[in-house]
Amino acid sequence: MIQNIAGNVRAFTSNVFLVTGETTALIDAGSNFDVIARIQEHTEQIDRLYLTHTHVDHIENVPSVRDAFSIETWGYDTTHDVVDHAIQDEELVPIGDETYMTLHTPGHKPDHLCFYAADIGICFGGDLIFANGSFGRTDLEGGDRKTLIQSIDRLSDVVTDDLTTIYVGHGPAITSDPQEEINLAAQAARLS
Ligand SMILES: [Zn+2]
Repeated sequence: MIQNIAGNVRAFTSNVFLVTGETTALIDAGSNFDVIARIQEHTEQIDRLYLTHTHVDHIENVPSVRDAFSIETWGYDTTHDVVDHAIQDEELVPIGDETYMTLHTPGHKPDHLCFYAADIGICFGGDLIFANGSFGRTDLEGGDRKTLIQSIDRLSDVVTDDLTTIYVGHGPAITSDPQEEINLAAQAARLS
């Protein structure tokens, strides 16, 4: 089961996805709200914390999650304090009851990852793209528009027709024709 536990938080935070199952995991930790209490509404324990990237709105809650559940974190760049274990491009990681493939997708930030499970047609897209053909900003440190476009194009190449949902870092999930939405975001990123 996948739930956005930051869904109704009115604060500067990313979405935070709690995925329960054999490996109960959190995708991003969010910021400026009590993530622990919200996790505990659904589960006593989590096994892993994955980070799509290390912008503050995704990671501020990492220390409290680490402390509360005595867990470690996985992300792309272990030189960052909040990342305990490195994930490479195209690595297989357990999330919930599935195995997801990681995609290193820089452009919004150099350490950005997406997590894709082709079998169930689900992707966690971080801040690469958003609903309605929007895309991650590239004006922050480490951002690069050309690189972002390449990453969006790569996601478009990798996903299959079975993709049903992209859970993104901000705003609603992409649930209607996600392949088309990826292509719209790529177009928009080229034009603006
Ligand atoms: Zn970000």
